[in-house]
Amino acid sequence: MSLEFTHVTLGQRVLFGSGRAAEHLASEVARLGARRVMVIASIAETRIAENVARHVEVTLHYSDISAHVPVEKAEKARAAATNHDIDLLVSVGGGSTTGLAKAIALTSALPIIAIPTTYAGSEATNVWGLTEGARKTTGVDDLVLPATVIYDASLTLSLPVGLSIASGLNGIAHCIDSMWAPRVDPINAALGAEGIRAFSRGLPLIKQDPSDLEGREMALYGAYLSAVAFASAGSGLHHKICHVLGGTWDMPHAETHATVLPYVLAFNAPEAPEAVARIASAFGTNDAGEGLRLLRETLDAPRALQDFGFKAEYIPETVEIILPAIPESNPRKATRGNLAALLAAACAGDDPRILSDDRSET
Ligand code: NAD
Repeated sequence: MSLEFTHVTLGQRVLFGSGRAAEHLASEVARLGARRVMVIASIAETRIAENVARHVEVTLHYSDISAHVPVEKAEKARAAATNHDIDLLVSVGGGSTTGLAKAIALTSALPIIAIPTTYAGSEATNVWGLTEGARKTTGVDDLVLPATVIYDASLTLSLPVGLSIASGLNGIAHCIDSMWAPRVDPINAALGAEGIRAFSRGLPLIKQDPSDLEGREMALYGAYLSAVAFASAGSGLHHKICHVLGGTWDMPHAETHATVLPYVLAFNAPEAPEAVARIASAFGTNDAGEGLRLLRETLDAPRALQDFGFKAEYIPETVEIILPAIPESNPRKATRGNLAALLAAACAGDDPRILSDDRSET
């Protein structure tokens, strides 16, 4: 990697502390001088949100949230914010909840305090997403970057183990994909590597004991690093594939990322020696693919896209949508043939190493 680069660090306050979310939220609301607060949390996270906002005067509790932020839900939430003369958005939940707050901020420029309860990482990016019909659109705008992120691992204790692992692997995917994304540089690569280290330590602790606060803290720390690396480096091959799978075939976000990651790593590995060495070292192994394989085995991670509704017959159409979106920066040239082979292997849950071995179409 050349030591000539342009790096942008996004400005955010990050308050980290288990059991301290309510106190941190009250002090941030006061610091920002907000008087009309809208708390956004899904019905399932209502209890967590009410508890976190217990020291704050809340003008509106809002819970009409759907995955991937459908445009009509965004419009409804924007109207609610306007009608209640809201001056601060507080999101408490996973990426879908943060995503709705971002959709409001995009058109209103209202500040956001994000309190994440999964490891998706949306809270630390300036990326928004909206879904219209079966197509998901994303964009970048500093208006949607939360002003403050409040991390409190105790709020993630209720996240089921399976979802915690899939969500954590979604975070590792941000880290690994950053290593060959369009704006990769030594700073975001270093953040990504530390993110892999944090998740590799935290996720096995969560698997062993879901009430382990240290494991949850490491995973949240990893989530922040992964998101900062991703926001800075941009979307690589892995994100382009998962974006199409989620938007076109309505696949679940975290599980799709968790399943596809080893295939993208095996696909790119032969052409990306520097990235692979960095990833291997972060896993504490000599081989990046082996490091990810061992971690996934410990975690009993999701294995095959067919388990989440993807079918082999979808592959040709999926390839046509993904191919034009793949960044120039990708270390291995993707073709119809090798991309179809990647999706076929991920669909069936085959050993990812067949993709590194078969380089006939590179
Ligand atoms: P999610 O927000 O849809 O949450 C998944 C499920 O977990 C939901 O049913 C939710 O109710 C539940 N949940 C959340 N926190 C919980 C907790 N503490 N305890 C129990 N249940 C809990 O899923 P996600 O994976 O967090 O986010 C996915 C969405 O975020 C996708 O739409 C994705 O595109 C978006 N995303 C955006 C960015 C970005 O930078 N803009 C980054 C990552 C993800």
